[in-house]
Amino acid sequence: MLADIEELVSCESPSADLDALAASADVVARVGGRLLGAEPERIVIDSRNHLRWRLGSGPARVLLLAHHDTVWPLGSLDTHPFTMTGGVLRGPGCFDMKTGLVLALHATAAVGVPDGVTILVTADEEVGSPTSRTLIEQEAAGCAAALVLEGAAAGGALKTERKGVSLYRIRAEGRAAHAGLEPERGVNATVELAHQILAVIGLADPGRGTTATPTRLAAGHTTNTVPADGEFAVDVRMWDRAEQDRIDAVMHALRPAVPGARLVVSGGPNRPPMAAASSADLFARAAVLAAGLGLPPLRSAAVGGASDGNFTAGAGTPTLDGLGAVGGGAHADDEHVLIDALPGRAALVAALLGSIALHDRG
Ligand SMILES: [Zn+2]
Repeated sequence: MLADIEELVSCESPSADLDALAASADVVARVGGRLLGAEPERIVIDSRNHLRWRLGSGPARVLLLAHHDTVWPLGSLDTHPFTMTGGVLRGPGCFDMKTGLVLALHATAAVGVPDGVTILVTADEEVGSPTSRTLIEQEAAGCAAALVLEGAAAGGALKTERKGVSLYRIRAEGRAAHAGLEPERGVNATVELAHQILAVIGLADPGRGTTATPTRLAAGHTTNTVPADGEFAVDVRMWDRAEQDRIDAVMHALRPAVPGARLVVSGGPNRPPMAAASSADLFARAAVLAAGLGLPPLRSAAVGGASDGNFTAGAGTPTLDGLGAVGGGAHADDEHVLIDALPGRAALVAALLGSIALHDRG
């Protein structure tokens, strides 16, 4: 597993670089082909290389889900080289989620490449899965389980509940004027955005865990002109779909506060919430299997970050997430994987596969 992780981490694969992703898909196909004795289908959508292994002839019972893109730009290996020291493995994308990808392949090989298992490795998870979403939902439909190999929560906990995500862009249009000579003739887009930013913050509901966070902001062109236009982005997270609908209705009903200004609101729900109910049965099963393997008691965690597990859960498929690497520092300088935890993790995924794919048939 360590050699395969090194091979994958050493092939950089930022979400924005289609050529790098094609090369990365080659590496994943080669490693997986060796382990599974089967070549993947290469599914290219808008020049993005996704890979799919449909194992056996029957309908899929289990979907193993991983992604091979990372948030790390080309050249990150120079500043964050692959290393293994003191039981800790490092390198761009090692935790999110090349180790999980390797775990999926090894676990599948360990149970003898069972019938009824589909492994899907996508190439755009870190940018919201625009080209793979439909593919993910189609592969998940009808499966008894979607096992997502994203990195674990703190201490190795599985992720059994994830917030949903909605993304918006709020654009204000006003009228330019000279800020010194005749500012009164202008309609100030920056001031309009200020009103809207405060309105958006007011949509949060801490009691329900709903956050509404204004993020990137830009307005105007020169320092002595009343800005004619500007926009800001909003990241909204929530635990349930009713909240997602509430926010969406309010966002699209925002009205301008500055006389003469115009507002254009775009965007909407990106990933639905992954509710605890979609994970409960699988988590209980995993906890029993972990105990049987002599692993430490399995813990669960609810997290604000979304993954493609939100899509499989949203499609109605029981979903268990965070089955990948134990470690931390996703998207950060201290990204790392704990080497000692790898065998136990692979054994757990293999046990889940065996239990669902082999023993629940018919
Ligand atoms: Zn990830």
